[in-house]
Amino acid sequence: MTGEPVRELLIDGKRTPAADGRTFTVLDPAHGTSLAEVSLAGAADVDQAVAAAQAALEAPDWARTRAADRGRLLYRIAGAIREQGERLARLESLDVGKPLSQAKADVEAAARYFEFYAGVADKLGGTTIPLGPGLLDYTVREPIGVSGQIIPFNYPLQNTARGSAPALAAGCTVVLKPSPEAPLTPLEIGRIALECGLPPGVLNVVPGDGDTGAALAGHPGIDQVTFTGSVPTGIKVAQTAAANVVPSVVELGGKSPVVVFADADFDLALAAVAGSAFGNAGQTCSAGTRLLLQRGAEEFLEKLVSYAASLRVGPGLTDPDVGPLVAARQRDRVLGYLDLARAEGATVRAGGGSPAAPELADGYYVEPTVLTGLTNAARTAREEIFGPVITVIEFDDTDEALAIANDSPYGLASYVWTRDIDKALRMAGGIRAGQVYVNATGVGTGVELPFGGYKHSGWGREKGLEALASYTQTKNVCIGFGNSGEGS
Ligand code: NAD
Repeated sequence: MTGEPVRELLIDGKRTPAADGRTFTVLDPAHGTSLAEVSLAGAADVDQAVAAAQAALEAPDWARTRAADRGRLLYRIAGAIREQGERLARLESLDVGKPLSQAKADVEAAARYFEFYAGVADKLGGTTIPLGPGLLDYTVREPIGVSGQIIPFNYPLQNTARGSAPALAAGCTVVLKPSPEAPLTPLEIGRIALECGLPPGVLNVVPGDGDTGAALAGHPGIDQVTFTGSVPTGIKVAQTAAANVVPSVVELGGKSPVVVFADADFDLALAAVAGSAFGNAGQTCSAGTRLLLQRGAEEFLEKLVSYAASLRVGPGLTDPDVGPLVAARQRDRVLGYLDLARAEGATVRAGGGSPAAPELADGYYVEPTVLTGLTNAARTAREEIFGPVITVIEFDDTDEALAIANDSPYGLASYVWTRDIDKALRMAGGIRAGQVYVNATGVGTGVELPFGGYKHSGWGREKGLEALASYTQTKNVCIGFGNSGEGS
C-alpha cells in the first residue's frame, strides 16, 4: 500500500485540485529549491471539505461503526505509518529540513498517536448517577462532530496524528489544514488512512495559507477547532470560532525554562538540554530556550558551549545534528533576534549567525547559539525566537529560580535538573507551566502525557487521555419508570 504522493487536496476521499486551480510551491529548506507544487485550498474548497465531513459524520459506514472497529482501523493506520516509515521520514526531513533521525522519531510518534487512541476508542463509556427509586440516569459521551484542525510547519507528521487520532477515536470527522510551509506528510497521512479503509470524508486534508485557515476556523459547519501555532494567530482563531459558539483548543508558543542547579548531573543534563533547544533547529514549541543556571554551575556552561560548537549543521537528509530552518523568513527572523541580542548586550559564546560553509549558502541555516550576559528582562529572553538559540540567565537560589522561571508570558513546558528532591518538588509545584520534567526531557514520544499551555501558551490539552475531552460531549439521559412521577 504505497500510492503516489498526494499533491492535490484530499476531500471526500478523492484527490481534488483547488476549485480555482491555484497551487503553491513547497521549498526544500536545505537548498532553497522547489520540492513540489501543491493545490491551495480556497474558501470554496473548505466549504466542500466541511460538507464532506458533515455527511461522513452521519453516514452509516462511520456513524454505525462499532467503537472496537474504529479502534482496529486506527491500529491499521498506525501499522501502515510504520510500514511506510522510511518514505514518510525522508519526506518530512526534506519538507521541514529536520535531521533524518529526528524525522524517524516523528514517524514513530505519529504511529504511537494512532495506536494510543486506537486502544481508547472502545473505552469512552459514561456513568450512571444514582437518583433513587423509579429513576435511571446515565451519561453518554458522544462525538462532538466535525473537528477543524489547523497545524503549524514544525511537526506536521506529529501534529496531524496528534489531532486526528483522538478525534477519530471519539467518532468525529476532521478537516485538517496543514501549514503552507510543510503540507506533504499530512497529505500522506490522509492517503494512508484512506488506503487503510477510513471511509471517504472522515479525514479531509486541505493545504493552504492563512486565508484557508480563517475560512475553516470561521466555518459555521464545524463543531470544534484544534489550533496549533503562534499566539497572534491563535487569538484570531479562538475569536473567530467563538463568534459561532464553536469551542477551541489553542496550543501556542513557549519560552520554556531549563533550570540547572549546581548539584545536577551535568553529563546527564547536557545532551538533553542541547537536544531540547537545538533539535528541529530550535523550531519546537516546548524547546527549553531559557537556561537558568545556578551560580557555581559554570562548568555546565563551558560544557554546553563546547557541545554547541561541535554540532554538525547540514541538510536534513544527511542526518546532521542541526538542519536548516523551514524557510528564509524563519531564518531571517532568528538572525534578527541575534542582532537584537547583541544590541541588548549579550555575549555570544557559541554560534551567532549563519554558518560560513559555502555548500550551505543556499539553505536556511543558523548555527546553534549560546548567549550569556542577559537578564530575564531582555526581549531576547522573553520572546519566542523559534531557532537554535539558548539564552543563559544566572540565579542564586531556588526562590530566585522559581521567580525567573515564572516571569514569562508563556507557560508551556519546563525542565529542572537537580539531585536534591526538595528543590525538585518545590520547582515542580511552583512552576506555572503545563509540563514539568525533572531530570528528564521528552520521555519517549510523550504521546501519553497531557500537553498544553498555561498563560499565553494556550488552553485545552492535547495528548494523553485528556485530549478526548475536546472531541466528546456529554449527554445526560434521565428516565422515570414504574410511575415514579418524577420530572413529569
Ligand atoms: P502560525 O501561527 O503562523 O501558523 C499556524 C497555522 O495557522 C498555519 O497553518 C497557518 O497557515 C495558519 N494561519 C495563519 N493565519 C491564520 C488565520 N488568520 N486564521 C487561521 N489560520 C491561520 O505558526 P507557525 O509559524 O506555522 O508555527 C510556529 C508557532 O507554532 C510557534 O509559535 C510555536 O511555538 C507554535 N507551536 C505550538 C505547539 C504547541 O503544541 N503548543 C506546537 C508546535 C508549534
